[in-house]
Amino acid sequence: MDGSAVTTSPTLAGLEPTAFWRQFETLTTIPRPSRNEEPVIEHVRAWAAEHGFELEQDSGRNLVVRVPATAGREAAPTVVLQGHLDMVCERDPASPNDPAEGRIALVRDGEWLKADGTTLGADDGVAIAAMMALVEDGSIPHGPLELLMTVAEEVGLEGANALDGSLVTGATLINLDSEEDGVLTVGCAGSTDTWIRVDAEREACSEGAVTLSVTCAGGLGGHSGSGIHLGHANAIKALGRALREAHAAAPFRLVSLAGGKSRNAIPRDAAAVCSVAADRAAAFRSAVEAANAVIRDAYAKTDPGVSVSVGSADAATDAWTDEATARLLDVVALVPTGPLALSPDFDGLIETSTSLGEAATDGGTLTLHSLSRSSNDSAMPEVIATLAAAARLAGGTLEVKHNYHGWRPDLDSPLLGVAKTVYERLFGEAPTITGVHAGLETAVIATKVPRHLDTLALGLQIEAPHSPDERVSIPTVERFWKLLVGVVDEYSAERS
Ligand SMILES: [Zn+2]
Repeated sequence: MDGSAVTTSPTLAGLEPTAFWRQFETLTTIPRPSRNEEPVIEHVRAWAAEHGFELEQDSGRNLVVRVPATAGREAAPTVVLQGHLDMVCERDPASPNDPAEGRIALVRDGEWLKADGTTLGADDGVAIAAMMALVEDGSIPHGPLELLMTVAEEVGLEGANALDGSLVTGATLINLDSEEDGVLTVGCAGSTDTWIRVDAEREACSEGAVTLSVTCAGGLGGHSGSGIHLGHANAIKALGRALREAHAAAPFRLVSLAGGKSRNAIPRDAAAVCSVAADRAAAFRSAVEAANAVIRDAYAKTDPGVSVSVGSADAATDAWTDEATARLLDVVALVPTGPLALSPDFDGLIETSTSLGEAATDGGTLTLHSLSRSSNDSAMPEVIATLAAAARLAGGTLEVKHNYHGWRPDLDSPLLGVAKTVYERLFGEAPTITGVHAGLETAVIATKVPRHLDTLALGLQIEAPHSPDERVSIPTVERFWKLLVGVVDEYSAERS
């Protein structure tokens, strides 16, 4: 590659490919926090103008830069290269550096590059730097390219969700936001939110009843998609289980039930308030203790710290009726949570799951919010039907919000075929091919673009993204670069 007019700081001296590192280093000086990407958008705009590339922006502020084919590759189909402009701007409070102000101090630590006291922004600065370096180097053959640079990926894929799909004309997309060297990602989960709402009758608490709280805590939680196969305790479900067992031994009336902090996470904490007849309080306590022993044993291998305990609570004035309490405990039991199907393509990967993420009480209404995921869109209706049936049996309603389609692995994908061939030729071994059980921008983009997209995600090794420990493995940068250049070249050569 052409390294003539290219310079980098002493920290990056000697690193290849030089053009990539120069672009990356420039990005470390430009603020690009999510939703405030204007400085980096201006940077790309000026760069595109300098090179005579057409640039379009949609109302969601995403950019598409159109790059003509190199000589002889004009007939090849357009390939979309995609990454996100924004980064998570975390810093140690004592650090003088701040990515949100474009102050990232690069530090080399053996084979790793990191930032002094802040996030590095390799997620996803490497994608933007790679796209720019690749197309400004006239010696790399490629067909027509569209560089799709999204905004606000790190805040719920906002940019991709606002994408004007008509800006993208290519039918082949390479996403550059994967954080694992040696892995080609060919699938991810689509997602659907649901809310079961049961509005049930309440009445005044009985004379002389005591109010007790029951809490579940100490589980490890984790991401409800990519961590669902680990089997960690769901605090709302474990609490429901303890309450049902206590209810069988010492009937009580439920005052409230709440738990979970995020639709994306397995709940670690949940609490209920119960109105218990004074002469049944001891039986209630011992029933919860008995349930706690069984729950602790059930999760001994996955959540050794999980426990359910009884405490005192402020006296309640009203609670759900006996009938409503039984019905609400049943609906918590009925809501499925956990893996539902394994991937038929990849060992150990979950294809379909659902996770009860949040429970809330508002007046007489109990709301149970779940997030269901599948890479197989045709599996989702059955999951939703199960949740709808649970709502109906409990006398409640179900609200459904489909977020985006799944990205179902296509092992016969032409793009994957090219990537496998190039990878094996370059590195003398087969790449790992897999999918993820979580949402990726590619799934949202595919939902917005009005044609089938043949899609692949690749990347390099990034550890601890989103934290001041974020670091990128330097040797994997060169592997990533060679693979990307090789795929873009080979794909257009075969089709010119
Ligand atoms: Zn990213």
